[in-house]
Amino acid sequence: MSHNDFILNTLNLKDPHIKFDENYYSKEIINDVESMFFSGELSYSPDVCPCCGHILDHSIIKYGFKTSRITLPKVSEFNAYLKLRKQRYYCKHCGQTFTPKTSIVKENCFISNNTKLAIALKAKRKISEKDIASD
Ligand SMILES: [Zn+2]
Repeated sequence: MSHNDFILNTLNLKDPHIKFDENYYSKEIINDVESMFFSGELSYSPDVCPCCGHILDHSIIKYGFKTSRITLPKVSEFNAYLKLRKQRYYCKHCGQTFTPKTSIVKENCFISNNTKLAIALKAKRKISEKDIASD
């Protein structure tokens, strides 16, 4: 198993387009709490412009990066985040910029789908809402 697949599996992230950096792991203090950070890049070129449907060719150009901080389920009781760099594109055809989508979060959302699943599973186990909130 490659090191990239290993991290994807460990974090239960299902998007193979995420490529983790050489130095993918760091610890940082977020809201006074020591937290785990995993950093990677979404390396994926869309086939068409999602704004106008124009087919990817020389009229769509790379346009810098946009970094998102995505909340992951806890890892060994540590808060965990994914710093995801996403390639931004500019479509000369319609003048819009966009970033490729990833299956790990809903659009404009910064909580990963598997975090939402973890919350739903805890709710099912009838842990009090207070415990869930402190998580
Ligand atoms: Zn376009």
